[in-house]
Amino acid sequence: MKVLDIHIHVGRREHLTPSLISFLEEEMGPATVELAQQLTPDALVDLLDAHGVRLGVILAEYSPRTTGVIPNEFVSEFCRQTDRIIPFASIDLESDAPPADQTEKAVKQLGCKGIKLLPSYTRLYPDDPRLLPAYEVAQGLGIPIMFHTGTSVFPGSRIRYANPLLLDDIAEDFPRLNLVMCHGGRPFWYKEAEWMLRRHKNMHIDISGIPLRKLPELFPKVEAFRDRYIFGSDWPTRPNIADYVGEVTRFPYTAETIQAILWDNGARLLGLES
Ligand SMILES: [Zn+2]
Repeated sequence: MKVLDIHIHVGRREHLTPSLISFLEEEMGPATVELAQQLTPDALVDLLDAHGVRLGVILAEYSPRTTGVIPNEFVSEFCRQTDRIIPFASIDLESDAPPADQTEKAVKQLGCKGIKLLPSYTRLYPDDPRLLPAYEVAQGLGIPIMFHTGTSVFPGSRIRYANPLLLDDIAEDFPRLNLVMCHGGRPFWYKEAEWMLRRHKNMHIDISGIPLRKLPELFPKVEAFRDRYIFGSDWPTRPNIADYVGEVTRFPYTAETIQAILWDNGARLLGLES
Protein backbone atom coordinates (compact mmCIF):
# COMPACT_ATOMS: atom_id res chain seq x y z
CA MET A 1 0.00 0.00 0.00
CA LYS A 2 1.39 3.39 -1.01
CA VAL A 3 1.92 5.86 1.83
CA LEU A 4 2.04 9.65 1.74
CA ASP A 5 3.14 11.37 4.95
CA ILE A 6 1.84 14.94 4.93
CA HIS A 7 3.52 16.09 8.14
CA ILE A 8 7.32 15.96 8.48
CA HIS A 9 9.64 18.49 10.13
CA VAL A 10 13.23 19.06 9.09
CA GLY A 11 15.17 21.90 10.72
CA ARG A 12 18.73 22.81 11.58
CA ARG A 13 19.93 23.82 15.04
CA GLU A 14 20.20 27.45 13.93
CA HIS A 15 16.52 27.44 12.95
CA LEU A 16 15.20 26.35 16.34
CA THR A 17 14.80 28.25 19.60
CA PRO A 18 17.02 27.09 22.50
CA SER A 19 13.91 26.14 24.49
CA LEU A 20 12.73 23.83 21.69
CA ILE A 21 16.15 22.19 21.39
CA SER A 22 16.29 21.42 25.13
CA PHE A 23 12.72 20.13 25.01
CA LEU A 24 13.48 17.81 22.07
CA GLU A 25 16.71 16.60 23.65
CA GLU A 26 14.83 15.70 26.79
CA GLU A 27 12.03 13.94 24.88
CA MET A 28 14.04 12.20 22.16
CA GLY A 29 17.59 12.10 23.49
CA PRO A 30 20.44 14.31 22.21
CA ALA A 31 21.63 11.68 19.69
CA THR A 32 18.27 11.56 17.85
CA VAL A 33 18.04 15.35 17.81
CA GLU A 34 21.55 15.62 16.39
CA LEU A 35 20.74 13.03 13.75
CA ALA A 36 17.55 14.84 12.74
CA GLN A 37 19.44 18.10 12.42
CA GLN A 38 22.24 16.77 10.25
CA LEU A 39 19.84 14.95 8.00
CA THR A 40 20.52 15.23 4.27
CA PRO A 41 17.75 14.87 1.67
CA ASP A 42 19.21 11.49 0.65
CA ALA A 43 19.23 10.28 4.24
CA LEU A 44 15.63 11.37 4.65
CA VAL A 45 14.63 9.45 1.51
CA ASP A 46 16.45 6.37 2.91
CA LEU A 47 14.49 6.82 6.12
CA LEU A 48 11.20 7.09 4.21
CA ASP A 49 12.13 3.90 2.31
CA ALA A 50 12.88 2.12 5.57
CA HIS A 51 9.42 3.05 6.84
CA GLY A 52 7.57 2.27 3.60
CA VAL A 53 6.71 5.89 2.83
CA ARG A 54 6.57 6.85 -0.85
CA LEU A 55 6.10 10.64 -0.49
CA GLY A 56 6.75 13.04 2.36
CA VAL A 57 5.71 16.66 2.86
CA ILE A 58 8.30 18.88 4.58
CA LEU A 59 6.97 21.88 6.49
CA ALA A 60 8.41 25.37 6.80
CA GLU A 61 7.63 27.38 9.91
CA TYR A 62 7.76 31.00 11.12
CA SER A 63 7.28 30.83 14.88
CA PRO A 64 10.15 32.92 16.29
CA ARG A 65 8.56 33.20 19.77
CA THR A 66 7.88 29.50 20.16
CA THR A 67 9.73 26.90 18.12
CA GLY A 68 11.81 28.89 15.67
CA VAL A 69 12.08 29.81 12.01
CA ILE A 70 12.48 27.19 9.30
CA PRO A 71 12.51 29.36 6.18
CA ASN A 72 10.60 28.59 3.00
CA GLU A 73 13.87 28.85 1.08
CA PHE A 74 15.50 26.17 3.25
CA VAL A 75 12.63 23.73 2.82
CA SER A 76 12.45 24.39 -0.92
CA GLU A 77 16.21 23.82 -1.32
CA PHE A 78 16.09 20.68 0.84
CA CYS A 79 13.42 19.15 -1.40
CA ARG A 80 14.98 20.24 -4.68
CA GLN A 81 17.02 17.15 -5.54
CA THR A 82 14.35 14.50 -5.24
CA ASP A 83 10.66 14.15 -6.07
CA ARG A 84 10.14 11.98 -2.98
CA ILE A 85 9.82 14.98 -0.67
CA ILE A 86 7.53 17.95 -1.26
CA PRO A 87 7.99 21.41 0.27
CA PHE A 88 5.21 23.30 2.05
CA ALA A 89 5.81 26.98 2.83
CA SER A 90 4.69 29.09 5.75
CA ILE A 91 3.96 32.82 6.11
CA ASP A 92 6.21 35.23 8.01
CA LEU A 93 4.07 37.95 9.55
CA GLU A 94 7.14 39.88 10.68
CA SER A 95 8.35 40.23 7.10
CA ASP A 96 7.74 43.37 5.06
CA ALA A 97 6.49 41.20 2.18
CA PRO A 98 2.68 40.94 2.20
CA PRO A 99 1.38 37.41 2.98
CA ALA A 100 -0.22 37.19 -0.48
CA ASP A 101 3.15 37.89 -2.15
CA GLN A 102 4.92 35.39 0.11
CA THR A 103 2.37 32.75 -0.88
CA GLU A 104 2.71 33.44 -4.59
CA LYS A 105 6.52 33.42 -4.39
CA ALA A 106 6.53 30.17 -2.40
CA VAL A 107 4.50 28.43 -5.09
CA LYS A 108 5.83 30.02 -8.28
CA GLN A 109 9.49 30.48 -7.40
CA LEU A 110 10.19 27.98 -4.62
CA GLY A 111 8.03 25.12 -5.89
CA CYS A 112 6.02 24.76 -2.69
CA LYS A 113 2.80 22.76 -3.02
CA GLY A 114 0.98 24.03 0.05
CA ILE A 115 1.10 26.27 3.12
CA LYS A 116 1.28 25.35 6.80
CA LEU A 117 0.32 27.85 9.50
CA LEU A 118 0.68 27.58 13.28
CA PRO A 119 -1.73 30.11 14.81
CA SER A 120 -1.03 29.06 18.41
CA TYR A 121 2.72 29.47 17.87
CA THR A 122 2.49 32.81 16.11
CA ARG A 123 -0.32 34.00 18.38
CA LEU A 124 -2.82 35.12 15.82
CA TYR A 125 -6.26 33.96 14.85
CA PRO A 126 -6.46 31.94 11.64
CA ASP A 127 -8.88 34.50 10.18
CA ASP A 128 -6.64 37.47 10.98
CA PRO A 129 -7.40 40.04 8.25
CA ARG A 130 -3.71 40.15 7.27
CA LEU A 131 -3.89 36.52 6.18
CA LEU A 132 -7.05 36.65 4.07
CA PRO A 133 -5.33 37.88 0.86
CA ALA A 134 -2.95 34.92 1.14
CA TYR A 135 -5.93 32.55 1.31
CA GLU A 136 -7.32 34.15 -1.83
CA VAL A 137 -4.00 33.53 -3.61
CA ALA A 138 -3.80 29.94 -2.34
CA GLN A 139 -7.35 29.27 -3.53
CA GLY A 140 -6.51 30.70 -6.95
CA LEU A 141 -3.36 28.59 -7.22
CA GLY A 142 -5.18 25.46 -6.05
CA ILE A 143 -2.87 24.70 -3.11
CA PRO A 144 -4.04 23.50 0.34
CA ILE A 145 -3.43 25.23 3.67
CA MET A 146 -2.68 23.22 6.80
CA PHE A 147 -3.35 24.66 10.26
CA HIS A 148 -1.98 23.37 13.53
CA THR A 149 -5.04 22.74 15.72
CA GLY A 150 -5.19 21.51 19.30
CA THR A 151 -2.65 21.60 22.06
CA SER A 152 1.06 22.12 21.93
CA VAL A 153 3.47 21.57 24.79
CA PHE A 154 6.08 23.97 23.47
CA PRO A 155 6.77 26.95 25.75
CA GLY A 156 5.39 30.16 24.27
CA SER A 157 2.43 28.63 22.44
CA ARG A 158 -1.10 29.88 23.17
CA ILE A 159 -3.95 27.42 22.95
CA ARG A 160 -6.81 29.84 22.29
CA TYR A 161 -5.78 30.24 18.64
CA ALA A 162 -5.91 26.50 17.99
CA ASN A 163 -9.62 25.66 18.11
CA PRO A 164 -10.72 24.06 14.79
CA LEU A 165 -13.95 26.12 14.88
CA LEU A 166 -11.84 29.21 14.18
CA LEU A 167 -11.50 27.88 10.61
CA ASP A 168 -15.26 27.98 10.02
CA ASP A 169 -15.32 31.43 8.39
CA ILE A 170 -12.34 30.62 6.18
CA ALA A 171 -13.87 27.36 4.96
CA GLU A 172 -17.10 29.20 4.17
CA ASP A 173 -15.52 32.25 2.52
CA PHE A 174 -13.00 30.24 0.46
CA PRO A 175 -15.05 27.25 -0.67
CA ARG A 176 -12.46 26.06 -3.23
CA LEU A 177 -9.55 26.26 -0.76
CA ASN A 178 -8.65 22.89 0.76
CA LEU A 179 -8.00 23.25 4.49
CA VAL A 180 -6.36 20.71 6.79
CA MET A 181 -6.74 20.59 10.58
CA CYS A 182 -3.45 19.09 11.75
CA HIS A 183 -3.90 16.80 14.78
CA GLY A 184 -7.72 17.06 14.50
CA GLY A 185 -7.95 19.55 17.37
CA ARG A 186 -6.37 17.15 19.89
CA PRO A 187 -7.37 16.47 22.64
CA PHE A 188 -10.28 18.79 23.53
CA TRP A 189 -11.77 19.47 20.12
CA TYR A 190 -12.09 16.16 18.24
CA LYS A 191 -15.88 16.60 18.06
CA GLU A 192 -15.52 20.11 16.71
CA ALA A 193 -13.01 18.95 14.11
CA GLU A 194 -15.26 16.14 12.90
CA TRP A 195 -18.23 18.49 12.78
CA MET A 196 -16.18 20.78 10.54
CA LEU A 197 -15.81 17.89 8.07
CA ARG A 198 -19.57 17.55 7.92
CA ARG A 199 -20.13 21.29 7.59
CA HIS A 200 -17.45 21.99 4.95
CA LYS A 201 -16.46 19.76 2.05
CA ASN A 202 -13.10 21.54 1.80
CA MET A 203 -12.09 20.52 5.37
CA HIS A 204 -9.67 17.70 6.17
CA ILE A 205 -7.96 16.19 9.20
CA ASP A 206 -4.29 15.24 9.33
CA ILE A 207 -4.11 12.39 11.86
CA SER A 208 -0.58 13.13 13.07
CA GLY A 209 -0.04 13.54 16.80
CA ILE A 210 -3.26 11.71 17.75
CA PRO A 211 -3.31 8.47 19.82
CA LEU A 212 -4.10 6.37 16.73
CA ARG A 213 -5.27 3.27 18.57
CA LYS A 214 -8.19 5.35 19.80
CA LEU A 215 -8.91 7.08 16.49
CA PRO A 216 -12.10 5.13 15.64
CA GLU A 217 -13.44 6.11 19.05
CA LEU A 218 -12.32 9.75 18.82
CA PHE A 219 -13.70 10.21 15.29
CA PRO A 220 -16.77 7.94 15.00
CA LYS A 221 -17.53 8.98 11.39
CA VAL A 222 -14.28 8.18 9.61
CA GLU A 223 -16.00 5.91 7.07
CA ALA A 224 -18.59 8.60 6.28
CA PHE A 225 -15.82 11.15 5.69
CA ARG A 226 -13.26 8.75 4.29
CA ASP A 227 -12.17 11.26 1.64
CA ARG A 228 -11.09 13.73 4.33
CA TYR A 229 -8.61 12.00 6.65
CA ILE A 230 -4.92 12.23 5.74
CA PHE A 231 -1.97 10.32 7.15
CA GLY A 232 0.81 12.32 8.83
CA SER A 233 3.51 11.26 11.28
CA ASP A 234 4.82 14.58 12.69
CA TRP A 235 8.31 13.06 12.33
CA PRO A 236 10.66 13.35 14.20
CA THR A 237 8.36 13.67 17.22
CA ARG A 238 7.02 10.21 16.19
CA PRO A 239 10.28 8.63 15.06
CA ASN A 240 8.79 5.29 14.01
CA ILE A 241 6.61 6.15 11.00
CA ALA A 242 6.19 2.46 10.06
CA ASP A 243 4.58 1.73 13.44
CA TYR A 244 2.20 4.61 12.88
CA VAL A 245 1.29 3.32 9.40
CA GLY A 246 0.76 -0.12 10.98
CA GLU A 247 -1.81 1.35 13.36
CA VAL A 248 -3.73 2.75 10.39
CA THR A 249 -3.73 -0.58 8.54
CA ARG A 250 -5.27 -2.21 11.62
CA PHE A 251 -8.22 0.23 11.74
CA PRO A 252 -11.61 -1.51 11.47
CA TYR A 253 -12.32 0.17 8.11
CA THR A 254 -12.60 -1.02 4.52
CA ALA A 255 -9.39 -1.37 2.48
CA GLU A 256 -10.59 1.58 0.37
CA THR A 257 -10.84 3.83 3.42
CA ILE A 258 -7.39 2.83 4.66
CA GLN A 259 -5.95 3.44 1.21
CA ALA A 260 -7.69 6.82 1.10
CA ILE A 261 -6.16 7.83 4.44
CA LEU A 262 -2.67 6.60 3.62
CA TRP A 263 -2.45 7.88 0.05
CA ASP A 264 -5.44 9.00 -2.02
CA ASN A 265 -6.61 11.98 0.04
CA GLY A 266 -3.17 13.51 0.42
CA ALA A 267 -2.35 12.88 -3.25
CA ARG A 268 -5.58 14.58 -4.32
CA LEU A 269 -4.78 17.68 -2.23
CA LEU A 270 -1.33 17.80 -3.80
CA GLY A 271 -2.80 17.52 -7.27
CA LEU A 272 -1.05 14.20 -7.95
CA GLU A 273 -2.35 11.33 -10.01
CA SER A 274 -3.44 8.45 -7.77
ZN1 LIG B 1 4.18 19.11 13.48
